[in-house]
Amino acid sequence: MVMNFRILPVSLLLLLLTGAHSPSDVGSQEPFVLAIDPGHGGKDLGWNTDGLAEKDIILDLALMMRELNTRRDLKVVLLREGDVYMGLKERAERIAEIAPDRVLSLHLDSRGRADHPNQFGFISQPNDRAGAEAAVRLAASVERFGPVSTKTSDQFYALKHYPASAILVEIGSVSQAEGRARLSDPAYREKLARALLEAI
Ligand SMILES: [Zn+2]
Repeated sequence: MVMNFRILPVSLLLLLLTGAHSPSDVGSQEPFVLAIDPGHGGKDLGWNTDGLAEKDIILDLALMMRELNTRRDLKVVLLREGDVYMGLKERAERIAEIAPDRVLSLHLDSRGRADHPNQFGFISQPNDRAGAEAAVRLAASVERFGPVSTKTSDQFYALKHYPASAILVEIGSVSQAEGRARLSDPAYREKLARALLEAI
Protein backbone atom coordinates (compact mmCIF):
# COMPACT_ATOMS: atom_id res chain seq x y z
CA MET A 1 0.00 0.00 0.00
CA VAL A 2 1.35 3.40 -0.93
CA MET A 3 0.14 6.22 1.32
CA ASN A 4 1.09 9.83 1.08
CA PHE A 5 1.18 11.04 4.68
CA ARG A 6 1.65 14.65 3.64
CA ILE A 7 -1.94 14.98 2.53
CA LEU A 8 -3.29 13.75 5.89
CA PRO A 9 -4.12 16.12 8.74
CA VAL A 10 -1.54 15.88 11.55
CA SER A 11 -4.15 14.67 14.05
CA LEU A 12 -5.08 11.75 11.82
CA LEU A 13 -1.43 10.96 11.22
CA LEU A 14 -0.80 10.81 14.97
CA LEU A 15 -3.77 8.53 15.38
CA LEU A 16 -2.40 6.21 12.70
CA LEU A 17 1.00 6.10 14.32
CA THR A 18 -0.13 5.64 17.92
CA GLY A 19 -3.38 3.74 17.49
CA ALA A 20 -2.12 0.62 19.24
CA HIS A 21 -0.99 0.63 22.84
CA SER A 22 2.66 -0.30 22.87
CA PRO A 23 5.62 0.49 25.14
CA SER A 24 6.63 3.41 22.95
CA ASP A 25 3.30 5.22 23.21
CA VAL A 26 3.79 8.96 23.09
CA GLY A 27 3.25 10.47 26.51
CA SER A 28 3.05 7.21 28.46
CA GLN A 29 4.36 7.79 31.98
CA GLU A 30 3.77 4.37 33.43
CA PRO A 31 5.71 1.43 31.97
CA PHE A 32 3.85 -1.01 29.76
CA VAL A 33 3.22 -4.07 31.92
CA LEU A 34 3.78 -7.38 30.20
CA ALA A 35 2.67 -10.49 32.08
CA ILE A 36 4.36 -13.62 30.80
CA ASP A 37 2.37 -16.77 31.42
CA PRO A 38 4.69 -19.77 31.08
CA GLY A 39 2.39 -22.69 30.26
CA HIS A 40 2.20 -25.85 32.37
CA GLY A 41 4.55 -26.50 35.35
CA GLY A 42 4.96 -28.99 38.19
CA LYS A 43 2.98 -32.19 37.54
CA ASP A 44 1.80 -30.76 34.21
CA LEU A 45 4.76 -31.27 31.86
CA GLY A 46 3.06 -30.19 28.65
CA TRP A 47 4.63 -31.90 25.64
CA ASN A 48 7.46 -34.11 26.79
CA THR A 49 9.77 -36.01 24.46
CA ASP A 50 13.12 -37.57 25.33
CA GLY A 51 13.18 -35.78 28.69
CA LEU A 52 12.70 -32.35 27.15
CA ALA A 53 9.52 -30.95 28.67
CA GLU A 54 7.51 -27.99 27.41
CA LYS A 55 7.11 -26.62 30.97
CA ASP A 56 10.91 -26.22 31.32
CA ILE A 57 11.65 -24.80 27.87
CA ILE A 58 8.89 -22.24 28.29
CA LEU A 59 9.90 -21.23 31.82
CA ASP A 60 13.50 -20.74 30.74
CA LEU A 61 12.39 -18.52 27.87
CA ALA A 62 10.16 -16.46 30.19
CA LEU A 63 12.97 -16.00 32.75
CA MET A 64 15.33 -14.93 29.97
CA MET A 65 12.84 -12.38 28.70
CA ARG A 66 12.56 -10.84 32.15
CA GLU A 67 16.32 -10.86 32.67
CA LEU A 68 17.12 -9.40 29.25
CA ASN A 69 14.62 -6.58 29.53
CA THR A 70 16.46 -3.29 30.00
CA ARG A 71 13.71 -1.03 28.72
CA ARG A 72 12.48 1.53 31.20
CA ASP A 73 9.14 1.66 29.42
CA LEU A 74 8.52 -2.06 29.82
CA LYS A 75 7.91 -4.01 33.02
CA VAL A 76 7.95 -7.81 32.75
CA VAL A 77 6.09 -9.88 35.34
CA LEU A 78 6.02 -13.69 35.38
CA LEU A 79 2.99 -15.72 36.44
CA ARG A 80 5.16 -18.59 37.60
CA GLU A 81 8.88 -18.37 38.30
CA GLY A 82 9.65 -21.96 39.13
CA ASP A 83 8.55 -25.49 38.35
CA VAL A 84 5.21 -25.24 40.08
CA TYR A 85 1.76 -26.32 39.03
CA MET A 86 -0.68 -23.50 38.45
CA GLY A 87 -4.25 -24.04 37.32
CA LEU A 88 -5.82 -21.92 34.61
CA LYS A 89 -8.31 -20.27 36.95
CA GLU A 90 -5.49 -19.39 39.34
CA ARG A 91 -3.60 -17.84 36.41
CA ALA A 92 -6.62 -15.75 35.47
CA GLU A 93 -6.92 -14.53 39.07
CA ARG A 94 -3.24 -13.62 39.20
CA ILE A 95 -3.63 -11.66 35.96
CA ALA A 96 -6.55 -9.76 37.44
CA GLU A 97 -4.26 -8.74 40.34
CA ILE A 98 -1.39 -7.69 38.07
CA ALA A 99 -3.71 -5.85 35.63
CA PRO A 100 -1.15 -6.02 32.80
CA ASP A 101 -1.34 -4.22 29.48
CA ARG A 102 -0.74 -7.50 27.73
CA VAL A 103 -0.31 -11.19 28.52
CA LEU A 104 1.93 -13.51 26.53
CA SER A 105 0.94 -17.08 27.19
CA LEU A 106 3.90 -19.21 26.11
CA HIS A 107 3.54 -22.75 24.78
CA LEU A 108 4.94 -25.15 22.25
CA ASP A 109 2.81 -26.09 19.28
CA SER A 110 -0.61 -27.05 20.68
CA ARG A 111 -0.90 -30.14 18.49
CA GLY A 112 2.53 -31.26 19.62
CA ARG A 113 3.26 -32.27 16.08
CA ALA A 114 3.80 -29.18 13.99
CA ASP A 115 3.96 -29.46 10.21
CA HIS A 116 7.31 -27.82 10.62
CA PRO A 117 9.29 -28.29 13.88
CA ASN A 118 10.26 -24.62 13.99
CA GLN A 119 6.79 -23.25 13.33
CA PHE A 120 5.54 -20.24 15.32
CA GLY A 121 1.92 -19.33 15.99
CA PHE A 122 0.57 -16.08 17.48
CA ILE A 123 -3.08 -16.26 18.42
CA SER A 124 -4.89 -13.17 19.67
CA GLN A 125 -8.39 -12.64 21.00
CA PRO A 126 -11.24 -11.80 18.62
CA ASN A 127 -12.05 -8.06 18.69
CA ASP A 128 -8.68 -7.11 20.20
CA ARG A 129 -7.20 -4.92 17.50
CA ALA A 130 -4.13 -3.87 19.50
CA GLY A 131 -3.51 -7.50 20.41
CA ALA A 132 -3.79 -8.57 16.77
CA GLU A 133 -1.31 -5.86 15.77
CA ALA A 134 1.08 -6.98 18.49
CA ALA A 135 0.73 -10.56 17.24
CA VAL A 136 1.78 -9.41 13.76
CA ARG A 137 4.80 -7.53 15.18
CA LEU A 138 5.82 -10.56 17.24
CA ALA A 139 5.44 -12.86 14.24
CA ALA A 140 7.61 -10.58 12.12
CA SER A 141 10.29 -10.56 14.82
CA VAL A 142 10.79 -14.34 14.70
CA GLU A 143 10.24 -14.90 10.97
CA ARG A 144 13.95 -15.47 10.54
CA PHE A 145 13.75 -18.54 12.80
CA GLY A 146 10.93 -20.38 11.04
CA PRO A 147 7.47 -20.19 9.44
CA VAL A 148 5.05 -17.93 11.31
CA SER A 149 1.28 -17.60 11.40
CA THR A 150 -1.17 -15.30 13.14
CA LYS A 151 -4.86 -15.76 13.80
CA THR A 152 -7.59 -14.92 16.28
CA SER A 153 -9.44 -17.48 18.34
CA ASP A 154 -11.32 -17.89 21.60
CA GLN A 155 -10.82 -21.64 21.69
CA PHE A 156 -8.14 -21.47 24.39
CA TYR A 157 -8.78 -20.68 28.04
CA ALA A 158 -6.20 -17.89 28.00
CA LEU A 159 -7.91 -16.19 25.08
CA LYS A 160 -11.41 -16.64 26.44
CA HIS A 161 -11.06 -16.09 30.18
CA TYR A 162 -7.93 -14.09 30.94
CA PRO A 163 -9.02 -10.59 32.05
CA ALA A 164 -6.53 -8.77 29.77
CA SER A 165 -5.35 -8.53 26.19
CA ALA A 166 -3.72 -11.92 25.73
CA ILE A 167 -1.71 -13.56 22.98
CA LEU A 168 -1.05 -17.27 22.90
CA VAL A 169 2.43 -17.85 21.54
CA GLU A 170 3.47 -21.22 20.16
CA ILE A 171 7.20 -21.57 19.67
CA GLY A 172 7.83 -24.77 17.73
CA SER A 173 7.58 -28.41 18.58
CA VAL A 174 9.61 -31.11 20.35
CA SER A 175 8.04 -33.99 18.44
CA GLN A 176 10.90 -34.14 15.96
CA ALA A 177 14.64 -34.28 16.65
CA GLU A 178 15.23 -31.01 14.77
CA GLY A 179 12.86 -29.09 17.01
CA ARG A 180 14.25 -30.72 20.16
CA ALA A 181 17.83 -29.89 19.23
CA ARG A 182 16.97 -26.28 18.60
CA LEU A 183 14.79 -25.70 21.66
CA SER A 184 17.34 -27.29 23.99
CA ASP A 185 20.02 -24.84 22.84
CA PRO A 186 20.29 -21.94 25.34
CA ALA A 187 21.84 -19.67 22.69
CA TYR A 188 18.78 -20.15 20.47
CA ARG A 189 16.42 -19.49 23.39
CA GLU A 190 18.23 -16.28 24.14
CA LYS A 191 17.93 -15.08 20.54
CA LEU A 192 14.25 -15.91 20.65
CA ALA A 193 13.78 -14.11 23.98
CA ARG A 194 15.45 -10.97 22.61
CA ALA A 195 13.41 -11.02 19.41
CA LEU A 196 10.11 -11.35 21.27
CA LEU A 197 11.05 -8.64 23.77
CA GLU A 198 11.87 -6.18 21.05
CA ALA A 199 8.50 -6.68 19.40
CA ILE A 200 6.24 -6.34 22.43
ZN1 LIG B 1 1.31 -26.00 26.13
